[in-house]
Amino acid sequence: MATSRRARSRRPELAQIVAVARKAALNGIERIVSAFREHPRIGGTAVALICIGLVIGLIPSQPDESEPTAQIKPLTLPQQQAEMVSADMPVSDQLIDGIDFEGVSGADEDLSGQTSVSDWTVVEVRPGQTLERIFRDLGLSARLLHEVVNACEETQQLARIRPGDEFAFDLDDEEGFRSLRAEFDEESWLFVERGEDGISARTEPRELDYRVVETQGTITTSLYRAAQQAELSDNLTMRLANIFGWDIDFALEIRAGDRFALIYEQVWRDGEYLRDGPILAARFVNQGETFEAVRFDAGNGPDYFAPDGRPMRQAFLRAPLNFTRVTSNFNPRRFHPITRQVRPHNGTDYGAPTGTPVWASGDGRVTRSGYNNRNGNYIFIRHGNNIETRYLHLSRRHVSVGDRVRQGETIGRVGATGMATGPHLHYEFLVNGAHRNPRTVDLPPADPLPDDLMEQFLSTGRPLLARLDEVDQPPLMLASAEDSCSPSTDSC
Ligand SMILES: [Zn+2]
Repeated sequence: MATSRRARSRRPELAQIVAVARKAALNGIERIVSAFREHPRIGGTAVALICIGLVIGLIPSQPDESEPTAQIKPLTLPQQQAEMVSADMPVSDQLIDGIDFEGVSGADEDLSGQTSVSDWTVVEVRPGQTLERIFRDLGLSARLLHEVVNACEETQQLARIRPGDEFAFDLDDEEGFRSLRAEFDEESWLFVERGEDGISARTEPRELDYRVVETQGTITTSLYRAAQQAELSDNLTMRLANIFGWDIDFALEIRAGDRFALIYEQVWRDGEYLRDGPILAARFVNQGETFEAVRFDAGNGPDYFAPDGRPMRQAFLRAPLNFTRVTSNFNPRRFHPITRQVRPHNGTDYGAPTGTPVWASGDGRVTRSGYNNRNGNYIFIRHGNNIETRYLHLSRRHVSVGDRVRQGETIGRVGATGMATGPHLHYEFLVNGAHRNPRTVDLPPADPLPDDLMEQFLSTGRPLLARLDEVDQPPLMLASAEDSCSPSTDSC
């Protein structure tokens, strides 16, 4: 459903964001995920900063009972959906639903089935062990090793083995070495074989199984916690937040009772879970407002679109930093703690540890990058549409005046320089020189899908959205944690 926040948007230009934002967001995801991994327990520290039940640090009064365990169950999607899903996985779509395999790097005609290695000698590499040593232990010559490794480009990676790698050898009492199998990559085996013409190599696809799973969760304490209970990986949680990050400020706007539902792919191999695939569709209910997104390829690679066909991406991020590191907003206080004066506060404060990366919220050019006693280290960025964003109290600045920056690019680090009582980012959003509330200002929307793609989009989206309706079961009882201390931008 188009939401009011989204519907309020106007100014339908910004065709550039589709291309630009995609790249920026991909970079952003990686950056977010790595930062997230570095500080996986930040959600726990939120508890210490109790006062305001803001953000991810909502105070639990009934932590667990009302949080239903997420269900994961298989979902059968129509054929068309399966094809769409794997648009960015050239190998995968050849392996699902009997679609013909068309050749992975160097794979030859052996497509009818996996080569059986049940009688082969399997060696798992131990720490410190070299391939040379493995060959010697098996009675194989150094010359053979040389031939094997240099058989072709693919086999040269055999020189770089790691503990835990597995090799299977087909050895004959009389002939000696017949072939070996190694893991080439996630999706294929590498076979090196002795034939009449000497040593040759080929790859063979491994059997990957793409499963569609669905899950949902309700937030009582933090998104983090709810995602864990829904058995979502950290990576998937960040991707979920990233899909809705243009509409929802995950740092400051998440509340108890918010909930999510999603349908995503899992990749399994040989009966073992390997990794998560793409999120196919998701819903996030934030403070009673419902946001939905469907994955769809409009010709530039898969992306996420609202049910009305508008891209989820917009020209500006709602929050210019990683929500997992934001522990709490500051207390609303119009009375400035340092100047002891009551004065207007022109931005939003994100309390976060010193060093937390600060991102450019949109594409633009750096107009100021400097230091003064009041702002500390500060950066101003000029964007299109007479929009300017400002970032204050930084511990470090990574950009200089004149630099072009992309949405999601790290421009500096959170700090407490200038007039600040503790590390936080003071973020301002100006339109035509006038301060606007960064958390509520209308963000310029992107153009919706063209008419000729809408039909295809709807046929993809409808069954997924219908499925989300079934997956998303609002809990009967919510935690009673009331957000009695509502956030205000009039702080700092
Ligand atoms: Zn401030």
